[in-house]
Amino acid sequence: MEFIDLKTQYRMLKPAVDKRIATVLDHGRFILGPEILELEEELAAYVSVDHCISVASGTEALLIALMALGIGPGDEVITTPFTFAATAEVIALVGATPVFVDINLTDCNIDAALIEAAISSATKAIMPVSLYGQCADMDAINAIAERRGVTVIEDAAQSFGALYKGRRSCGVSTIGCTSFFPSKPLGCYGDGGAIFTSDAGLAQAMREIRIHGQSKRYQHDRVGVGGRLDTIQAAILLAKLGNFGEEVAARIRIGNRYCELLENIPGVRLIQVPADRTSVWGQFTILVDNRDEMIDALNAAAVPTAVHYPIPLHRQPAYADRSRVVGSLELSEIAARQVISLPMHPFLDTAVQDHIVEAIAKNARN
Ligand SMILES: *Cc1c(COP(=O)(O)O)cnc(C)c1O
Repeated sequence: MEFIDLKTQYRMLKPAVDKRIATVLDHGRFILGPEILELEEELAAYVSVDHCISVASGTEALLIALMALGIGPGDEVITTPFTFAATAEVIALVGATPVFVDINLTDCNIDAALIEAAISSATKAIMPVSLYGQCADMDAINAIAERRGVTVIEDAAQSFGALYKGRRSCGVSTIGCTSFFPSKPLGCYGDGGAIFTSDAGLAQAMREIRIHGQSKRYQHDRVGVGGRLDTIQAAILLAKLGNFGEEVAARIRIGNRYCELLENIPGVRLIQVPADRTSVWGQFTILVDNRDEMIDALNAAAVPTAVHYPIPLHRQPAYADRSRVVGSLELSEIAARQVISLPMHPFLDTAVQDHIVEAIAKNARN
């Protein structure tokens, strides 16, 4: 059983993917070739924003966004401690301080009600993470940001394709950043990412920062990075985009089926998806009290599992002294002890899913 089945996806899309790659090998424009612009136009249209800037990874996307906003030493960025390290890493990399605010246990996203109290005179941005594939309470977060004059950057690495009140993840705040790491909802065959905005000035700044701060060749107006997406990865993403709508629909169908099958098992708690949004289930994650026992039992039943994430970032040596903590972060600690991610991909068939659910039911402890 695969945790994420990329092989079946490649078998289905092989003619389109191979043809797209061959085209790049023939034209030879491996850096910022024509596929880059084509991809950026398609992705911007999909998300319904004016600008998409493709970049080397999701981490690079977040870093470039912070650099474009001029965030640096002395500044603070509010985020969640219950996320992949990259979210806080980029804040520390630009010399700013990550400020950790607790999550809620209904969706494991940042608790918008706790953000306002965390804002200081040094706060420059709020970086909510759309964990497990659905947006946080973005209307509330955007309203706070507007009132306090700070910018919202969505870390949408796990949620590309999700809807929030009819708008796409990545297009629900001033800047949205996603990742095309192979196992993400839209993955390439290496590292990749993209930044989305409808702010023309920020888009221009981020385009320049992506290529060493160049406004034109060998004219460096700002400090930048080598942060481009490879043309071959853009070509692969263009081939995969043809089937992405169906894959998102399959993820939602399979996620809903997991929820229906698991919701009445005592001792299993589900991530809730409010009616005004969808989750693309970048991870399908449940919470249980007997996590270690459950992992052993599932693995014994040949069900691969993962833990996203076992240690909240305020407990990580790299960030413990480089962050500011607001409140007890108790729910992040509980989540870190209780979460298990189950196999999730658009090709998970019902018999396999039934087997997974049966193994969970057999080992759930109330
Ligand atoms: C994957 C991920 C990233 C980083 O993306 P990369 O493309 O691997 O650099 C950032 N934030 C979150 C929440 C992620 O899941």
